[in-house]
Amino acid sequence: MRFNFLAVLFAVFALLLSMTTVGSAQSKPNIVILATGGTIAGSAADASATTGYKAGALGIDVLLNAVPQVKEYANVSGEQICSIDSKDMTDDIWLKLADRINDLFSRGDVDGIVITHGTDTLEETAYFLNLTVHSNKPVVLVGAMRPATAISADGPMNLLNAVRVAASPASVGKGVLVALNDEINAAREVTKTNTITVSTFKSPELGFLGYVNEGVPEFYRTSARRHTINSEFNVNGKKNLPYVKVIYGTANDDELFVDAAIKAGVKGIIYAGTGNGSVHMNAEKALARATAKGIVVVRSSRVGNGTVIPAEQSYIDYHFLDGDTLSPQKARILLQLALTKTTDLSEIQRMFKQY
Ligand code: ASP
Repeated sequence: MRFNFLAVLFAVFALLLSMTTVGSAQSKPNIVILATGGTIAGSAADASATTGYKAGALGIDVLLNAVPQVKEYANVSGEQICSIDSKDMTDDIWLKLADRINDLFSRGDVDGIVITHGTDTLEETAYFLNLTVHSNKPVVLVGAMRPATAISADGPMNLLNAVRVAASPASVGKGVLVALNDEINAAREVTKTNTITVSTFKSPELGFLGYVNEGVPEFYRTSARRHTINSEFNVNGKKNLPYVKVIYGTANDDELFVDAAIKAGVKGIIYAGTGNGSVHMNAEKALARATAKGIVVVRSSRVGNGTVIPAEQSYIDYHFLDGDTLSPQKARILLQLALTKTTDLSEIQRMFKQY
């Protein structure tokens, strides 16, 4: 009898233990890692090499095997979307990523997404997804400045932190995030500021959102502009995006690139002007021809900080729009998305004030 009692007690204990184990696996969030390549998946012949490596050489399984600790924070699965150096990013891959993410979130059992990405165009992909993913759930982009084979590679810790950020309830509703070097940035404001160093991603002037302190994501602010569930843009099922080019203003500028863009059939031009989006008088003549043909022209700035606001009367007369604080590369994305909806100039100007 005593033996039976002990056996029952043991069985109940074992059952409770197994329920706790199953419970903790279930209570961990489900995170999908979408891999696109970049230095974080880069392989060099020599462990001391930080250049001259092949970006995107290693698959998502290799990256995940290098950081088994991610499993402590989430049930993680990986998918290879592409294996590129992000300097070669295309609209096609963006559309594929947005479709896949919206699809995964519509399934209901995915709680967050991490995207491994090269650092060169990481901020552009982040901003594109910030405007085209329709979910409150965390989407976190991560990269590395040193290849995976380097001594003191930054990728493994960055990946672990990105999973921690994607798994954190604190990240819900913050828009698409960029997490590298223990800092969390908003997609709209972040930019690569240094060609080489690991501390390259910053949100100049407006500031980053928070830290990953000892593995814990801590937020101190949010980005105020519309994103994700409050975005009016929808690219589901789209096969391409409107053709928009950035033209960089300099001293001694001329009409050459603007006229070439008009001839090539662009739908929009971002003019990365000097100062407050100032346009060289030669380029201005060509841009006036562009708007007369129905091409949308947005003045942005090559300065890197500050708002582009209305300036010369001639810009107003020629219907040039103002790019707000967006960098030229992000203004291009917003204009592409705006042109999927309208060519109405006041509507597009409204979008530049809201996103
Ligand atoms: N050129 C590389 C890329 O953007 C650099 C990096 O991954 O950091 O893919």
